[in-house]
Amino acid sequence: QKFVYDFTEGNKDLKDLLGGKGANLAEMTNLGLPVPPGFTITTEACKVYLESGTEPAALRDEVSTHLDALERKMAKKLGQADDPLLVSVRSGAKFSMPGMMDTVLNIGLSDESVRGLAAQSGDERFAWDSYRRLIQMFGKTVLAVDGDLFEEALEEVKQVTGATTDVDLGAPELEQLVERFKGIVVKETGRDFPQDPREQMDLAVRAVFDSWNGDRARLYRRQERIPHDLGTAVNICSMVFGNLGPDSGTGVAFTRDPASGHQGVYGDYLQNAQGEDVVAGIRNTVPLADLEQLDKASYDSLMQIMETLETHYKDLCDIEFTVERGKLWMLQTRVGKRTAAAAFRIATQLVDQGLIDEAEALQRVNGAQLAQLMFPRFAADAAIERIGSGIAASPGAAVGKAVFDSYTAIKWSRSGEQVILIRRETNPDDLDGMLAAEGILTSRGGKTSHAAVVARGMGKTCVCGAEELEVDTKRRRMTAPGGTVVEEGDTVSIDGSSGKVYLGEVPVVPSPVVEYFEGRMHAGADDADELVKAVHRVMAYADRVRRLRVRANADNAEDASRARRFGAQGIGLCRTEHMFLGERREMVERLILADTDSERDSALAGLLPQQKRDFVELFEAMDGLPVTVRLLDPPLHEFLPDITELSVRVALAESRKDANENDLRLLQAVHRLHEQNPMLGLRGVRLGLVIPGLFTMQVRAIAEAAAERKAAKGDPRAEIMIPLVGTVQELEIVREDAEKVIAEIEETYGVDLKLSLGTMIELPRAALTAGQIAESADFFSFGTNDLTQTVWGFSRDDVEASFFTAYLEKGIFGVSPFETIDKDGVGALVRDAVEAGRATRPDLKLGVCGEHGGDPESVHFFHEVGLDYVSCSPFRVPVARLEAGRAAA
Ligand code: ADP
Ligand code: MG
Ligand code: MG
Repeated sequence: QKFVYDFTEGNKDLKDLLGGKGANLAEMTNLGLPVPPGFTITTEACKVYLESGTEPAALRDEVSTHLDALERKMAKKLGQADDPLLVSVRSGAKFSMPGMMDTVLNIGLSDESVRGLAAQSGDERFAWDSYRRLIQMFGKTVLAVDGDLFEEALEEVKQVTGATTDVDLGAPELEQLVERFKGIVVKETGRDFPQDPREQMDLAVRAVFDSWNGDRARLYRRQERIPHDLGTAVNICSMVFGNLGPDSGTGVAFTRDPASGHQGVYGDYLQNAQGEDVVAGIRNTVPLADLEQLDKASYDSLMQIMETLETHYKDLCDIEFTVERGKLWMLQTRVGKRTAAAAFRIATQLVDQGLIDEAEALQRVNGAQLAQLMFPRFAADAAIERIGSGIAASPGAAVGKAVFDSYTAIKWSRSGEQVILIRRETNPDDLDGMLAAEGILTSRGGKTSHAAVVARGMGKTCVCGAEELEVDTKRRRMTAPGGTVVEEGDTVSIDGSSGKVYLGEVPVVPSPVVEYFEGRMHAGADDADELVKAVHRVMAYADRVRRLRVRANADNAEDASRARRFGAQGIGLCRTEHMFLGERREMVERLILADTDSERDSALAGLLPQQKRDFVELFEAMDGLPVTVRLLDPPLHEFLPDITELSVRVALAESRKDANENDLRLLQAVHRLHEQNPMLGLRGVRLGLVIPGLFTMQVRAIAEAAAERKAAKGDPRAEIMIPLVGTVQELEIVREDAEKVIAEIEETYGVDLKLSLGTMIELPRAALTAGQIAESADFFSFGTNDLTQTVWGFSRDDVEASFFTAYLEKGIFGVSPFETIDKDGVGALVRDAVEAGRATRPDLKLGVCGEHGGDPESVHFFHEVGLDYVSCSPFRVPVARLEAGRAAA
C-alpha cells in the first residue's frame, strides 16, 4: 500500500484518497500550472493512525523518500541552516470541513535557520515575521496553546512600538516577539518549541490526523451526514512567500461571481501578507481588479489561469494564490460554492459557452435550490437595523411581533397578530406556539435542534442558534450585542434563508420564480429576470428527459389550477375528507348519529349533491388530466366535537337542567368512537365496509360529476382510490358495489365513463400481498406517510415532537423518514410491491402520494423503482419535475 503521493502523481478524481485539496493540487500540477512542489499523505494513512493509534510502519520511510525528492527538486534541505526549505502542513479531507486543524505555515524555521532565511532573502524583517507566525500557528494548533496568548503578546508589542498593524513592526521587534512566543510555549506546554524541522513536520502531520476526531469536526460531520471513517489527507507543500515586501502578496479569487453567477473579476488581494491574512481581516484587502495596477504581469497570468481552470473543471472555481516577488503561485482550487440563483445562471451560461451539455446542466442544480428560490424574500434594499444572525435552519422570510412564550404566541395569533416566537431553545411544549407563529428564533442549538427540525417539518421559517442574542424569557426581552433591546410586542423580521435577524418590519417581496410559474412573468420577455430565464431553460431540459410524471395533491379547483400552472400532469391525491368539513360537518354528524337506515340514507342524500359539485369543479379544472379521488379515509371522531369540550358543555347544561338531546347523543357517539390510536383504528376502507352507503355515495358523486362533465363536452379522467386496504377481499367488496353504481349511472347518462378503480398501498400487509391485491386494482398509489408509520411503528406527530432530536443526535436517522423515504425498510416494501403488482398485471399504473413525492432524494428512488408518477403538494411540483429530470438525465 502506498501512503504518499507526489503532487505529480495524483489527479482530481482521487478525492477519497488525497482529499479535495490534495487531489486538486495534483490536478493543477499536471495541468502545468505554477504550484509549489509537494506531496500528499493519504486518507488511508490517517485511517490506520485513527484505528491503531500509531502511524503505519511504512509511513515514515515513505515520507522521507518524498521529502528527499522534494529537497532535491528545490535544491535545499528542510530547515537547512544557511538556506532552509520551508513547507506548509495542510489538512484536507474529501469534504471541506470547519473544525479541522488549521494549516501550519513555515515549517522548518528554527533559531538557526531563521538567520539563513534572512541572509538568503536579504530581508531580516521577513525572516522574523515568518518565524513568529510559525511559532504562533504551531503553538496554537499543534501544541494546543490558547491562541489569545499570542495575540495579546502581539498587541502589546504593537502598542509599545506605536505600530498600527503588523507590517509596521520591524525586524528587531519581531525578533523580540519570537522570544516572547517561545516563552509562552514553554510556560504553557512545559517544553521548548521544537527546533528539529522533521520533528516539527511529523508533529504537525499527527495533529492533522488527530483533528479529524475533534469535537467540532465530529459534530459537523454528524450534521452534514459525512461518514466518520473517511479520515483526512495531509498536504506537505513547499512554501512560497507573499510577505516578502510590496511586490508580494496573497489573495483569493473566484472565476465568476458566486452570488450572481456573473462573469468578471471577483476576489480580494492583500499586499505583503501571508496565508490567512486575507480572510482574517487583519488589514484591509483591495479588490482583485486592483492587482492589475499593482502587478500587471501577475494579474494577466492569474486571469489566464482562471480561464484554464474554468475550461478544465467546466465550472465555477475558487482559488487561493500568492505572489512572491512578482511570480504567481497557485495554492488551492476547488469547484466553488454558490448561491441557488447563481447555480441556475451558471448552469445555463456554461451550456451557452459549450462547456457542458443539458444533461450536465441538470446535475449542476437541485430541487432544494429551486425550493429556496421559491420562498418570498426580504427586499434587498430595506434600510433596517440588523441585530444579529444565526443558523439558517428553515427558509423563508417572516415578520411579526416578538413573543417569548408559546402561550402568548397562541393568544396573540388568535387575535389576528403575526408573531415570531423567540426562545432560548424550544421543546415539545412549544409545539402549539410554533404552529401559531410566523417564524421561530432561538439563541441556542444547531441545524438538528428541536426548533430547526420541527420548523422544517412544519415549513415554518426558523433561525436558530443566534448566540449573540441574549434571550431573557422571564423578563420577556432579548438583548442584541449593540445593546439594542427587543421587548415583547416589538416587530422583528427573520430570514430563514440567510439566518439574519432584523429589528422592525422588512418588506417582503414575492419570488420572481414563483411569479414565473404562476404565469405572471414570461421567461421569453426581453426584460424578464435573468434568473427566471435560467430556471425556465433548466425546467425545459428536465421536462424533456424525465420519465416520471408529476401530479399534485389537491382537494379543490383552486389548488388544482395552481398545480396545473406549476406543471402538474394530473391529481394524484384528492382527499375527500376536506369536503366534509365546515358547514357540512352537521350533515356528517347526522350520518354518524344515524340509528336507522332511513336516517342514514337521508344524511347521505344530503351530502351527495355537495360532493358532486366539488367534483364537477375539480374535473373541470383538470380537464383532460387524470384525477385520483380517494374515498373517505380519516377516523370518524375527527368530524365530531372535541371530547373534553363536549363533556364540559353537557355537564354544564345538565347542571342547569337544560341538556340538549342532540348533544347527549353526540357525547355518546364520541365515547363510542373514541380510539386509543385512531391511526390504527376504524378508518379508510374499514369505514366504507361498516357504514353502508358511504362509499357508494362517494362513488355516485364522482360518477355523476364525470357524466355531467362529459355531457358538457369536457374530458374528465377520474380514478377512484380506496385507502388503507390490507387484503384483496376488502377491495373486492368495495369494487363490486362501486361497479354496480357506475354501471347504473353510465346507463342513465348513456356514456362510457372509463373510471378506473385502484387502491393505496400504505399498510405492510398490502405491500406484502401486492400480487393478490393487483388482481382487483387498476392502479396502486403508495401512501408512504402511513406506510412509514406502520412499518416503523411510530406516528409522525409523536416522533417529530418528542424523540426525533435524540435519534438524530445519536445518528439513528440522518434525516426524518417522513421527509426522505427510508430506502432500506419502507423502500424495500415499495420495490417488492411494484414487482409483485406488475407480475400480476403488467399494465398496472403505479404512483406515490404523500410528502415523499416532493422530496428530491425520494423522487430519485421512485424513478429507480419504476413508478409512473409522483404526486406532491402544488408548490413542490416544480421541485419534483426538476428532480425527476435529474434522476433520468
Ligand atoms: P484552508 O483549508 O483553511 O484554506 P490552507 O491549507 O489552504 O487552509 O492554508 C491556509 C492559508 O495558507 C491559505 O491562504 C493558503 O493559501 C496559505 N498557504 C498554504 N500553504 C502555503 C504555502 N506552501 N505557501 C504559501 N502559502 C500557503
Ligand atoms: Mg485554503
Ligand atoms: Mg394514508
